[in-house]
Amino acid sequence: MNIVVCIKQVPDTMDVRIDPKTNTLVRDGVPSIINPFDEFALEEGLRLRERFGGKITAITMGPPQATEVLRTALAMGVDAVALLSDRAFAGADTLATSYALSQGVKKVGDVDLVITGKQAIDGDTAQVGPGIAARLGFTQLTYVSKVEGAENGTITVERLLDGGRERVEARLPAVLTVVKGINVPRQPSILKMKKARNAEIPVWTAADIGADPAKTGQNGSPTWVDRIFSPDQKSGGEVYRGEPDEMAGRLSELLLEMMAK
Ligand code: FAD
Repeated sequence: MNIVVCIKQVPDTMDVRIDPKTNTLVRDGVPSIINPFDEFALEEGLRLRERFGGKITAITMGPPQATEVLRTALAMGVDAVALLSDRAFAGADTLATSYALSQGVKKVGDVDLVITGKQAIDGDTAQVGPGIAARLGFTQLTYVSKVEGAENGTITVERLLDGGRERVEARLPAVLTVVKGINVPRQPSILKMKKARNAEIPVWTAADIGADPAKTGQNGSPTWVDRIFSPDQKSGGEVYRGEPDEMAGRLSELLLEMMAK
């Protein structure tokens, strides 16, 4: 099975700060890590290779320092990596990001499966995986909590839903977005980490992946951040305590009063 895993470098902080002028994340002075969901994606790729054979390529789109996450992927055991990096990718929204990544997948060639995390802990949109699937015309399987099997051009997975789990059989090629807990990501050995630290990381530019300049970076981003602000703190309000029936009654009275206004 020919697998591509998309991994993203994210700030290692809960205190995400935004540059008020550019409306982009302040990354200076903030340590970076691999997006935690992407460690599950990498581990799942490695387990599928162990079960069905094949090759795994990890790709990331980002500035030169994003090579760090590719070194983590190499230390975990992927076969190949590529950094998609070019000024033309700067300022990408999720549409332009998924376009560039899908072009990267095309460059890898003959891919059966793309695995992404459910979401990135900074952008948090969960749009990139589905975006890649749409661009490539691959089957889209989101919130995957288990891969049961893959044979004869199909894959069987379990998806995590709000009220339960869903078992789905789908045609390959496919894009999976995986949830936390699908596996326990392996810890690479010191030796493998040292080897990965010295590895040469291939860099793919927009031209290398045959990207249309109108679809990358800011040019290819129909959405932009207009303003970022913290919502006003709510003040006042009333707290009702008591038996559930009593509170439900009071709540319905209040709703009826509001509707009557
Ligand atoms: P999600 O969709 O939540 O990520 C899901 C999965 O997709 C991840 O687990 C990972 O597997 C994969 N993935 C996501 N991003 C990457 C990546 N780069 N490489 C490899 N795999 C990846 N950022 C800027 O720097 N400048 C901007 O001007 C800018 N403008 C934006 C405007 C808008 C309206 C929005 C919504 C976002 C903007 N961003 C900008 C952020 C940028 O779009 C996101 O960093 C990027 O598109 C990924 O989206 P996400 O973080 O929501 O990923």
